[in-house]
Amino acid sequence: MTPRFRNVRRIGPVQVATFLARGRNRHLAACTAPRCDFSAEYDSRPAAELAARTHRCKA
Ligand SMILES: [Zn+2]
Repeated sequence: MTPRFRNVRRIGPVQVATFLARGRNRHLAACTAPRCDFSAEYDSRPAAELAARTHRCKA
C-alpha cells in the first residue's frame, strides 16, 4: 500500500506529514537535508512537529 501523505508542512529542513497506516493516522517527520538521514514516525501530530522543531541537523 502506498502511503498517502496529507498536511505536508515544512519546519526548517524537516518535513512533517500525516498518513494513514493500517487504518490509523501516523505522523512522519523527515529531514530533507542531503546528508541527514533523520526520519521518525509518531502517533501524534504535535509529537512529530515538536521533533521537527527541535531537530538539530548535522548536515
Ligand atoms: Zn537534518
